[in-house]
Amino acid sequence: MFASDCCDDHDRLLTLAEALERALALIEALPEIESVNLQDADGRVLAADLPARLDVPPHDNSAMDGFALHHADLCSDGPTRLPVIGQALAGHPYVKTVPRGAAVRITTGAMTPAGPDLVIMQEHCRIDPEQHWIEIDAAHAAKLKLGENIRRCGEDVHAGALLLPGGRRLRPQDVALAAGQGMATLTVRRRLRVAVASTGDELHEPGVPLPPGAIYESNRYTLLGLLRRLGCAVTDLGILRDERDSLLSALRDAAARHDVLLTSGGVSVGTADLIKEVIAELGTIEFWRLAVKPGKPVTLGRIGDCQVLGLPGNPVSVMVSFLLFARPVLLRRMGIASVEPLRVPARADFHLRRKPGRREWLRARLRLDPAQGLLATVYPTASSGALSSLCWAEGLVELAEDCAGIAPGDGVQYLPFGELGVD
Ligand code: AMP
Ligand code: MG
Repeated sequence: MFASDCCDDHDRLLTLAEALERALALIEALPEIESVNLQDADGRVLAADLPARLDVPPHDNSAMDGFALHHADLCSDGPTRLPVIGQALAGHPYVKTVPRGAAVRITTGAMTPAGPDLVIMQEHCRIDPEQHWIEIDAAHAAKLKLGENIRRCGEDVHAGALLLPGGRRLRPQDVALAAGQGMATLTVRRRLRVAVASTGDELHEPGVPLPPGAIYESNRYTLLGLLRRLGCAVTDLGILRDERDSLLSALRDAAARHDVLLTSGGVSVGTADLIKEVIAELGTIEFWRLAVKPGKPVTLGRIGDCQVLGLPGNPVSVMVSFLLFARPVLLRRMGIASVEPLRVPARADFHLRRKPGRREWLRARLRLDPAQGLLATVYPTASSGALSSLCWAEGLVELAEDCAGIAPGDGVQYLPFGELGVD
Protein backbone atom coordinates (compact mmCIF):
# COMPACT_ATOMS: atom_id res chain seq x y z
CA MET A 1 0.00 0.00 0.00
CA PHE A 2 1.33 3.46 -0.85
CA ALA A 3 1.84 5.86 2.02
CA SER A 4 -0.45 8.41 0.36
CA ASP A 5 -3.33 5.96 0.42
CA CYS A 6 -2.79 4.65 3.92
CA CYS A 7 -5.14 7.10 5.60
CA ASP A 8 -8.10 6.78 3.24
CA ASP A 9 -9.90 4.25 5.36
CA HIS A 10 -9.20 5.97 8.67
CA ASP A 11 -9.42 9.75 8.19
CA ARG A 12 -12.27 10.55 5.86
CA LEU A 13 -11.06 13.07 3.28
CA LEU A 14 -13.08 16.25 2.75
CA THR A 15 -15.25 16.18 -0.36
CA LEU A 16 -14.84 19.01 -2.84
CA ALA A 17 -18.21 20.42 -1.80
CA GLU A 18 -17.22 20.40 1.89
CA ALA A 19 -13.84 21.93 1.15
CA LEU A 20 -15.36 24.67 -0.97
CA GLU A 21 -18.03 25.42 1.60
CA ARG A 22 -15.35 25.80 4.27
CA ALA A 23 -13.04 27.80 2.04
CA LEU A 24 -15.74 30.16 0.78
CA ALA A 25 -16.96 30.77 4.34
CA LEU A 26 -13.43 31.83 5.32
CA ILE A 27 -12.77 34.10 2.38
CA GLU A 28 -14.01 37.63 1.91
CA ALA A 29 -14.03 39.83 -1.16
CA LEU A 30 -11.21 42.34 -1.37
CA PRO A 31 -12.56 45.52 0.23
CA GLU A 32 -10.59 48.00 -1.91
CA ILE A 33 -12.39 49.58 -4.84
CA GLU A 34 -11.29 51.93 -7.61
CA SER A 35 -12.76 53.88 -10.46
CA VAL A 36 -11.85 52.86 -14.02
CA ASN A 37 -12.60 54.43 -17.37
CA LEU A 38 -15.07 52.50 -19.48
CA GLN A 39 -12.26 51.67 -21.92
CA ASP A 40 -10.56 49.72 -19.12
CA ALA A 41 -13.63 48.18 -17.50
CA ASP A 42 -13.93 44.94 -19.51
CA GLY A 43 -13.13 41.97 -17.27
CA ARG A 44 -13.15 43.98 -14.05
CA VAL A 45 -15.50 43.17 -11.17
CA LEU A 46 -18.31 45.64 -10.56
CA ALA A 47 -18.09 46.68 -6.89
CA ALA A 48 -21.78 47.33 -6.16
CA ASP A 49 -25.24 47.20 -7.73
CA LEU A 50 -25.46 49.80 -10.46
CA PRO A 51 -28.85 51.49 -10.95
CA ALA A 52 -29.87 52.94 -14.30
CA ARG A 53 -30.05 56.70 -14.30
CA LEU A 54 -31.61 57.16 -17.76
CA ASP A 55 -34.41 55.64 -19.75
CA VAL A 56 -33.04 53.81 -22.80
CA PRO A 57 -33.96 54.64 -25.44
CA PRO A 58 -34.27 58.20 -24.14
CA HIS A 59 -37.10 58.98 -26.63
CA ASP A 60 -39.50 57.08 -28.90
CA ASN A 61 -37.69 56.32 -32.14
CA SER A 62 -38.09 54.44 -35.37
CA ALA A 63 -36.99 50.78 -35.70
CA MET A 64 -37.06 51.02 -39.53
CA ASP A 65 -36.36 53.25 -42.48
CA GLY A 66 -39.82 54.35 -43.63
CA PHE A 67 -42.55 56.88 -42.98
CA ALA A 68 -44.16 58.04 -39.73
CA LEU A 69 -47.91 58.55 -39.94
CA HIS A 70 -51.21 58.46 -38.06
CA HIS A 71 -52.88 55.07 -37.81
CA ALA A 72 -56.28 56.78 -38.02
CA ASP A 73 -55.40 58.03 -41.55
CA LEU A 74 -55.24 54.51 -43.02
CA CYS A 75 -58.14 53.72 -45.39
CA SER A 76 -59.68 50.27 -45.49
CA ASP A 77 -61.62 50.64 -48.75
CA GLY A 78 -58.92 51.90 -51.11
CA PRO A 79 -55.30 53.10 -51.24
CA THR A 80 -54.15 55.64 -48.65
CA ARG A 81 -52.23 58.50 -50.21
CA LEU A 82 -50.42 60.88 -47.84
CA PRO A 83 -48.21 63.90 -48.59
CA VAL A 84 -44.65 63.71 -47.22
CA ILE A 85 -44.13 67.01 -45.40
CA GLY A 86 -40.60 66.58 -44.06
CA GLN A 87 -38.01 64.20 -42.68
CA ALA A 88 -36.67 62.95 -39.35
CA LEU A 89 -33.13 61.61 -39.53
CA ALA A 90 -31.11 59.93 -36.73
CA GLY A 91 -29.68 62.82 -34.73
CA HIS A 92 -31.77 65.40 -36.68
CA PRO A 93 -35.32 65.34 -35.32
CA TYR A 94 -38.39 66.75 -37.05
CA VAL A 95 -39.32 69.33 -34.43
CA LYS A 96 -42.87 70.27 -35.43
CA THR A 97 -46.02 68.26 -34.84
CA VAL A 98 -47.09 66.17 -37.83
CA PRO A 99 -50.79 66.85 -38.45
CA ARG A 100 -53.39 64.24 -39.37
CA GLY A 101 -53.37 63.45 -43.08
CA ALA A 102 -49.59 63.80 -43.50
CA ALA A 103 -46.46 61.62 -43.27
CA VAL A 104 -42.80 62.29 -42.52
CA ARG A 105 -39.87 60.30 -43.91
CA ILE A 106 -37.97 58.70 -41.01
CA THR A 107 -34.74 56.72 -40.66
CA THR A 108 -33.83 54.00 -38.17
CA GLY A 109 -33.02 55.49 -34.78
CA ALA A 110 -34.54 58.89 -35.56
CA MET A 111 -36.80 60.34 -32.86
CA THR A 112 -40.45 59.94 -33.85
CA PRO A 113 -42.06 63.36 -34.22
CA ALA A 114 -45.12 64.39 -32.20
CA GLY A 115 -48.33 63.21 -33.85
CA PRO A 116 -47.66 59.93 -35.74
CA ASP A 117 -48.30 56.64 -33.94
CA LEU A 118 -46.73 54.16 -36.34
CA VAL A 119 -43.91 53.78 -38.85
CA ILE A 120 -44.44 51.95 -42.11
CA MET A 121 -41.39 50.36 -43.72
CA GLN A 122 -40.43 52.06 -46.96
CA GLU A 123 -40.53 48.66 -48.74
CA HIS A 124 -44.26 48.52 -47.96
CA CYS A 125 -45.27 51.80 -49.65
CA ARG A 126 -45.40 53.08 -53.17
CA ILE A 127 -43.18 56.17 -53.11
CA ASP A 128 -43.59 59.08 -55.49
CA PRO A 129 -40.30 59.40 -57.47
CA GLU A 130 -40.11 63.03 -56.26
CA GLN A 131 -40.91 61.83 -52.70
CA HIS A 132 -43.84 64.24 -52.44
CA TRP A 133 -46.29 61.50 -51.42
CA ILE A 134 -46.57 57.84 -50.46
CA GLU A 135 -49.37 55.38 -51.13
CA ILE A 136 -50.28 52.29 -49.08
CA ASP A 137 -52.68 49.69 -50.47
CA ALA A 138 -55.74 48.79 -48.43
CA ALA A 139 -54.74 45.15 -47.84
CA HIS A 140 -51.44 46.23 -46.31
CA ALA A 141 -53.01 49.11 -44.38
CA ALA A 142 -55.37 46.62 -42.70
CA LYS A 143 -52.35 44.75 -41.29
CA LEU A 144 -50.63 47.79 -39.73
CA LYS A 145 -50.93 48.09 -35.98
CA LEU A 146 -50.85 51.10 -33.74
CA GLY A 147 -47.28 51.69 -32.54
CA GLU A 148 -45.77 49.46 -35.21
CA ASN A 149 -41.99 49.91 -35.74
CA ILE A 150 -41.74 52.44 -32.92
CA ARG A 151 -39.22 51.68 -30.14
CA ARG A 152 -40.64 53.23 -27.01
CA CYS A 153 -38.77 55.43 -24.58
CA GLY A 154 -37.47 53.22 -21.73
CA GLU A 155 -38.38 49.91 -23.37
CA ASP A 156 -34.78 48.64 -23.05
CA VAL A 157 -33.89 50.13 -19.65
CA HIS A 158 -35.99 52.07 -17.14
CA ALA A 159 -34.34 54.83 -15.11
CA GLY A 160 -34.04 53.62 -11.51
CA ALA A 161 -34.07 49.90 -12.37
CA LEU A 162 -31.07 47.66 -11.63
CA LEU A 163 -28.74 48.07 -14.60
CA LEU A 164 -25.99 45.61 -13.53
CA PRO A 165 -25.61 43.66 -10.28
CA GLY A 166 -22.56 44.12 -8.05
CA GLY A 167 -20.17 41.18 -8.12
CA ARG A 168 -20.44 40.76 -11.86
CA ARG A 169 -17.32 40.31 -13.93
CA LEU A 170 -17.96 42.87 -16.64
CA ARG A 171 -18.32 41.59 -20.18
CA PRO A 172 -18.13 43.78 -23.28
CA GLN A 173 -21.92 44.04 -23.51
CA ASP A 174 -22.13 45.11 -19.84
CA VAL A 175 -19.66 47.92 -20.44
CA ALA A 176 -21.69 48.92 -23.50
CA LEU A 177 -24.84 49.05 -21.36
CA ALA A 178 -23.10 51.44 -18.96
CA ALA A 179 -21.96 53.55 -21.91
CA GLY A 180 -25.60 53.78 -23.01
CA GLN A 181 -26.27 55.44 -19.65
CA GLY A 182 -23.65 58.10 -20.28
CA MET A 183 -21.40 56.72 -17.53
CA ALA A 184 -17.76 57.46 -18.28
CA THR A 185 -16.31 55.49 -15.35
CA LEU A 186 -17.29 52.46 -13.26
CA THR A 187 -16.44 51.48 -9.69
CA VAL A 188 -14.73 48.10 -9.60
CA ARG A 189 -12.76 45.98 -7.14
CA ARG A 190 -9.03 46.34 -7.08
CA ARG A 191 -7.28 43.63 -9.08
CA LEU A 192 -6.34 40.56 -7.06
CA ARG A 193 -2.56 40.31 -6.61
CA VAL A 194 -1.53 36.70 -7.05
CA ALA A 195 1.95 35.19 -6.89
CA VAL A 196 2.80 31.88 -8.55
CA ALA A 197 5.69 29.56 -7.76
CA SER A 198 6.67 26.09 -8.87
CA THR A 199 8.62 23.87 -6.52
CA GLY A 200 10.95 20.99 -7.28
CA ASP A 201 14.67 20.31 -7.57
CA GLU A 202 14.13 18.48 -10.86
CA LEU A 203 12.62 21.55 -12.56
CA HIS A 204 14.47 23.72 -15.08
CA GLU A 205 13.44 26.68 -17.16
CA PRO A 206 12.86 26.07 -20.87
CA GLY A 207 15.66 27.32 -23.10
CA VAL A 208 18.58 25.59 -21.37
CA PRO A 209 19.90 22.02 -21.88
CA LEU A 210 18.56 19.55 -19.30
CA PRO A 211 20.91 17.80 -16.88
CA PRO A 212 20.25 14.07 -16.28
CA GLY A 213 17.16 13.44 -14.18
CA ALA A 214 15.76 16.91 -14.74
CA ILE A 215 12.58 18.02 -16.54
CA TYR A 216 11.38 21.33 -17.91
CA GLU A 217 9.02 23.26 -15.68
CA SER A 218 5.57 23.68 -17.19
CA ASN A 219 3.01 24.32 -14.42
CA ARG A 220 3.70 28.03 -14.19
CA TYR A 221 2.62 28.48 -17.79
CA THR A 222 -0.71 26.83 -17.01
CA LEU A 223 -1.24 28.88 -13.87
CA LEU A 224 -0.02 32.23 -15.22
CA GLY A 225 -2.37 31.94 -18.21
CA LEU A 226 -5.35 30.88 -16.13
CA LEU A 227 -4.80 33.70 -13.65
CA ARG A 228 -4.40 36.31 -16.34
CA ARG A 229 -7.64 35.13 -17.91
CA LEU A 230 -9.28 35.78 -14.54
CA GLY A 231 -7.99 39.33 -14.63
CA CYS A 232 -5.52 38.95 -11.73
CA ALA A 233 -2.33 40.98 -11.40
CA VAL A 234 0.16 38.11 -11.46
CA THR A 235 3.72 37.88 -10.11
CA ASP A 236 5.86 35.03 -11.40
CA LEU A 237 8.11 33.82 -8.57
CA GLY A 238 9.80 31.25 -10.80
CA ILE A 239 11.07 27.88 -9.60
CA LEU A 240 11.72 27.32 -5.91
CA ARG A 241 14.05 24.56 -4.74
CA ASP A 242 12.94 21.82 -2.32
CA GLU A 243 14.86 23.45 0.45
CA ARG A 244 13.18 24.46 3.68
CA ASP A 245 14.90 27.77 4.42
CA SER A 246 14.64 29.14 0.91
CA LEU A 247 10.95 28.12 0.77
CA LEU A 248 10.35 29.81 4.12
CA SER A 249 11.83 33.09 2.99
CA ALA A 250 10.23 33.00 -0.48
CA LEU A 251 6.75 32.25 0.87
CA ARG A 252 7.02 34.74 3.74
CA ASP A 253 8.11 37.46 1.35
CA ALA A 254 5.48 36.68 -1.29
CA ALA A 255 2.66 36.44 1.28
CA ALA A 256 3.45 39.92 2.56
CA ARG A 257 2.96 41.44 -0.90
CA HIS A 258 0.07 39.43 -2.38
CA ASP A 259 -3.56 38.55 -1.73
CA VAL A 260 -3.14 34.96 -2.84
CA LEU A 261 -0.13 32.71 -3.29
CA LEU A 262 -0.32 29.65 -5.54
CA THR A 263 2.33 26.97 -5.43
CA SER A 264 2.58 23.74 -7.37
CA GLY A 265 4.33 20.59 -6.22
CA GLY A 266 5.67 19.60 -2.84
CA VAL A 267 2.31 18.97 -1.14
CA SER A 268 2.36 15.20 -1.21
CA VAL A 269 3.97 12.89 1.34
CA GLY A 270 7.51 12.51 -0.04
CA THR A 271 10.57 13.69 1.86
CA ALA A 272 10.92 16.70 -0.45
CA ASP A 273 7.28 17.73 0.05
CA LEU A 274 7.85 20.69 2.31
CA ILE A 275 5.11 23.16 1.35
CA LYS A 276 2.61 22.23 4.08
CA GLU A 277 5.27 22.35 6.74
CA VAL A 278 6.42 25.76 5.57
CA ILE A 279 2.88 27.18 5.43
CA ALA A 280 2.19 25.77 8.91
CA GLU A 281 5.33 27.42 10.23
CA LEU A 282 4.53 30.82 8.72
CA GLY A 283 0.74 30.73 9.18
CA THR A 284 -2.01 28.14 9.36
CA ILE A 285 -3.22 25.19 7.29
CA GLU A 286 -7.01 25.20 6.89
CA PHE A 287 -7.04 21.77 5.29
CA TRP A 288 -4.98 19.35 3.27
CA ARG A 289 -6.13 16.59 0.90
CA LEU A 290 -9.52 16.24 -0.72
CA ALA A 291 -11.52 13.25 -1.95
CA VAL A 292 -10.83 14.15 -5.57
CA LYS A 293 -8.97 12.68 -8.54
CA PRO A 294 -6.73 14.13 -9.76
CA GLY A 295 -5.56 16.71 -7.24
CA LYS A 296 -5.93 14.87 -3.94
CA PRO A 297 -3.06 16.56 -2.02
CA VAL A 298 -4.42 20.10 -2.54
CA THR A 299 -3.79 22.35 0.46
CA LEU A 300 -5.43 25.56 1.65
CA GLY A 301 -3.64 27.73 4.16
CA ARG A 302 -3.07 31.29 5.17
CA ILE A 303 0.01 33.38 5.90
CA GLY A 304 -1.10 36.68 7.41
CA ASP A 305 -3.81 38.08 5.12
CA CYS A 306 -2.62 36.02 2.17
CA GLN A 307 -4.45 32.85 1.17
CA VAL A 308 -2.04 30.12 0.16
CA LEU A 309 -3.17 27.41 -2.22
CA GLY A 310 -0.76 24.52 -2.46
CA LEU A 311 -1.60 22.68 -5.66
CA PRO A 312 -0.17 19.30 -6.60
CA GLY A 313 2.80 19.02 -8.93
CA ASN A 314 1.50 16.77 -11.67
CA PRO A 315 0.68 18.90 -14.72
CA VAL A 316 -2.88 17.57 -15.08
CA SER A 317 -3.57 17.70 -11.35
CA VAL A 318 -2.44 21.30 -11.18
CA MET A 319 -4.81 22.47 -13.90
CA VAL A 320 -7.79 20.41 -12.73
CA SER A 321 -7.38 21.42 -9.09
CA PHE A 322 -6.97 25.03 -10.14
CA LEU A 323 -10.18 24.96 -12.18
CA LEU A 324 -12.35 23.13 -9.66
CA PHE A 325 -10.93 24.32 -6.37
CA ALA A 326 -8.61 27.33 -6.65
CA ARG A 327 -10.76 29.16 -9.17
CA PRO A 328 -13.89 29.46 -6.99
CA VAL A 329 -11.70 30.61 -4.09
CA LEU A 330 -10.07 33.28 -6.26
CA LEU A 331 -13.42 34.39 -7.70
CA ARG A 332 -14.79 34.84 -4.19
CA ARG A 333 -11.74 36.88 -3.17
CA MET A 334 -12.16 38.99 -6.34
CA GLY A 335 -15.71 39.79 -5.21
CA ILE A 336 -17.46 37.74 -7.91
CA ALA A 337 -20.91 36.67 -6.79
CA SER A 338 -21.35 33.50 -8.83
CA VAL A 339 -18.60 30.90 -8.63
CA GLU A 340 -20.39 27.73 -9.80
CA PRO A 341 -19.64 26.56 -13.35
CA LEU A 342 -22.52 25.25 -15.44
CA ARG A 343 -22.50 21.50 -16.00
CA VAL A 344 -23.91 20.29 -19.30
CA PRO A 345 -25.82 16.98 -19.28
CA ALA A 346 -24.41 14.57 -21.87
CA ARG A 347 -24.27 10.83 -22.57
CA ALA A 348 -21.13 8.78 -22.10
CA ASP A 349 -19.46 7.46 -25.22
CA PHE A 350 -17.06 5.39 -23.12
CA HIS A 351 -16.84 2.62 -20.60
CA LEU A 352 -15.20 2.92 -17.19
CA ARG A 353 -14.96 0.91 -13.98
CA ARG A 354 -13.80 2.60 -10.83
CA LYS A 355 -13.70 2.51 -7.09
CA PRO A 356 -16.24 4.94 -5.58
CA GLY A 357 -15.10 7.47 -2.98
CA ARG A 358 -13.53 10.40 -4.80
CA ARG A 359 -14.97 12.94 -7.19
CA GLU A 360 -13.17 12.47 -10.48
CA TRP A 361 -12.63 14.53 -13.59
CA LEU A 362 -11.81 12.94 -16.92
CA ARG A 363 -10.34 14.86 -19.80
CA ALA A 364 -13.13 14.96 -22.34
CA ARG A 365 -14.61 16.24 -25.54
CA LEU A 366 -18.22 16.65 -26.58
CA ARG A 367 -19.76 15.90 -29.95
CA LEU A 368 -23.30 16.09 -31.24
CA ASP A 369 -24.69 12.77 -32.43
CA PRO A 370 -27.83 13.11 -34.59
CA ALA A 371 -29.58 10.23 -32.77
CA GLN A 372 -28.19 10.37 -29.23
CA GLY A 373 -27.60 14.08 -28.71
CA LEU A 374 -24.49 15.30 -26.88
CA LEU A 375 -21.93 12.54 -26.44
CA ALA A 376 -18.86 12.83 -24.22
CA THR A 377 -15.65 11.00 -25.17
CA VAL A 378 -12.73 10.74 -22.77
CA TYR A 379 -8.99 10.56 -23.25
CA PRO A 380 -7.77 6.96 -23.09
CA THR A 381 -5.07 7.45 -20.43
CA ALA A 382 -5.87 8.55 -16.92
CA SER A 383 -2.27 9.53 -16.06
CA SER A 384 -2.19 12.82 -14.18
CA GLY A 385 1.19 13.56 -15.70
CA ALA A 386 0.01 13.47 -19.31
CA LEU A 387 -0.28 17.14 -20.18
CA SER A 388 -0.97 16.31 -23.83
CA SER A 389 -4.35 14.91 -22.72
CA LEU A 390 -5.37 18.39 -21.54
CA CYS A 391 -4.38 19.86 -24.88
CA TRP A 392 -6.58 17.24 -26.57
CA ALA A 393 -9.50 17.96 -24.20
CA GLU A 394 -12.17 20.64 -24.57
CA GLY A 395 -13.64 20.08 -21.13
CA LEU A 396 -13.98 17.64 -18.26
CA VAL A 397 -16.44 14.89 -17.44
CA GLU A 398 -17.25 14.96 -13.75
CA LEU A 399 -17.97 11.73 -11.88
CA ALA A 400 -19.67 11.97 -8.49
CA GLU A 401 -18.05 10.45 -5.39
CA ASP A 402 -20.46 7.48 -5.37
CA CYS A 403 -20.10 6.61 -9.05
CA ALA A 404 -18.96 2.98 -9.41
CA GLY A 405 -18.64 2.99 -13.17
CA ILE A 406 -19.96 4.29 -16.43
CA ALA A 407 -21.44 2.36 -19.34
CA PRO A 408 -21.94 3.84 -22.82
CA GLY A 409 -25.19 5.83 -22.90
CA ASP A 410 -25.15 6.68 -19.17
CA GLY A 411 -25.87 10.31 -18.30
CA VAL A 412 -22.76 12.29 -17.31
CA GLN A 413 -22.02 15.89 -16.38
CA TYR A 414 -19.72 17.73 -18.77
CA LEU A 415 -17.84 20.88 -17.80
CA PRO A 416 -16.82 22.82 -20.92
CA PHE A 417 -13.47 24.59 -20.50
CA GLY A 418 -15.25 27.80 -21.53
CA GLU A 419 -17.36 27.57 -18.34
CA LEU A 420 -14.14 27.37 -16.36
CA GLY A 421 -12.61 30.44 -17.92
CA VAL A 422 -10.33 28.58 -20.35
CA ASP A 423 -11.06 29.49 -23.94
P1 AMP B 1 5.33 16.65 -6.51
O1 AMP B 1 3.92 16.91 -6.12
O2 AMP B 1 6.25 17.78 -6.21
O3 AMP B 1 5.82 15.35 -5.95
O4 AMP B 1 5.32 16.48 -8.10
C1 AMP B 1 4.58 15.45 -8.70
C2 AMP B 1 5.04 15.22 -10.12
O5 AMP B 1 4.82 16.38 -10.89
C3 AMP B 1 6.50 14.92 -10.25
O6 AMP B 1 6.67 13.98 -11.28
C4 AMP B 1 7.11 16.25 -10.64
O7 AMP B 1 8.33 16.11 -11.36
C5 AMP B 1 6.03 16.84 -11.49
N1 AMP B 1 6.06 18.28 -11.41
C6 AMP B 1 6.01 19.01 -10.28
N2 AMP B 1 6.05 20.32 -10.54
C7 AMP B 1 6.11 20.43 -11.88
C8 AMP B 1 6.19 21.54 -12.76
N3 AMP B 1 6.17 22.79 -12.28
N4 AMP B 1 6.25 21.32 -14.09
C9 AMP B 1 6.24 20.04 -14.55
N5 AMP B 1 6.16 18.97 -13.78
C10 AMP B 1 6.12 19.14 -12.45
MG1 MG C 1 8.26 17.96 -6.01
